[in-house]
Amino acid sequence: MAHKTGFVTVIGRPNVGKSTLINALVGEKIAITSPRPQTTRSNMRAILSTEDHQIIFIDTPGIYSPKNKLGELMTDAAKKTLDEVDAVIYVCDATDRTLLSADRKIIDLIKQAGKPTVALINKIDMVAKELLLERIATLSAEYPFSDIIPVSALKDDGLDIVLESVVKLLPEGPELYDREYITDTSMRDIAADIIREKILLFTKDEVPHGTGVEIVRFIEGEDGRSTHIDATIYCDKESHKSIILGKNGTMLGKIGAKAREDIGKLLGEKVDLKLWVKVRENWRNNKGFLVEQGFGDK
Ligand code: GDP
Ligand code: MG
Repeated sequence: MAHKTGFVTVIGRPNVGKSTLINALVGEKIAITSPRPQTTRSNMRAILSTEDHQIIFIDTPGIYSPKNKLGELMTDAAKKTLDEVDAVIYVCDATDRTLLSADRKIIDLIKQAGKPTVALINKIDMVAKELLLERIATLSAEYPFSDIIPVSALKDDGLDIVLESVVKLLPEGPELYDREYITDTSMRDIAADIIREKILLFTKDEVPHGTGVEIVRFIEGEDGRSTHIDATIYCDKESHKSIILGKNGTMLGKIGAKAREDIGKLLGEKVDLKLWVKVRENWRNNKGFLVEQGFGDK
């Protein structure tokens, strides 16, 4: 059997489990996940290589109606991938009572692109099986999906079938990346995303999505020395800065400790992480600044 290689974009509404799915398929924590929507800000690639195939998954920010410039760039980035891929994984949420209008809009984009698409109904660990039949029927009336597969990305349920189904849709081709690469996103970007994930995790709803992380310095460790990372956290308001810092810097300490642990695991070496917090008002509507930060396309 000839080797197959292809690009597969994973699209769906925010919070349906796209990043969790890619992490489970590739088996490493690359894409950040969070219980709050819109955690993934720019498209991120994760690569799964086996003897027989190489699949480059594109994790997108989730398509929704944007409220500011950052949102617009995020949604556009997700839409654009549809033209560039060999196949599409569309994810919807089993816990929604019905297929939402936002889902229908995404399916319209898939129709326009006309790409072979596998539909996943995710989070089946949360719902009764009877409800799934109805959802499968609704989906199959919307578009000729190659397959409609109920899964739980979190519990690793049904994912073998997803891989089989996706591989069928890929063209024959040689490997594009060395087998050991699990992402073509730089460690800098991943480190920034991990830090942002921890901010979201610890500050709960007090700090909205108004934070950006810039990696100021990234010096790789060699010969058992640790990697040095300096990063600046940008936020919208002084009040957010004080929340992120916490009393006597305790919150920032917690964010730093957890981020250091995760980045260290991924790098397989010790990480020395220093964090600063700066206020940059209205940064989410400053396109120049956003592009500089790697959101959207240059
Ligand atoms: P994304 O915005 O589509 O990338 O969604 P994430 O992957 O960040 O996941 C959003 C939330 O849904 C997180 O809290 C995940 O833990 C949760 N989640 C993802 N997949 C599943 C699943 O199969 N079952 C359950 N119960 N929760 C899930
Ligand atoms: Mg995501």
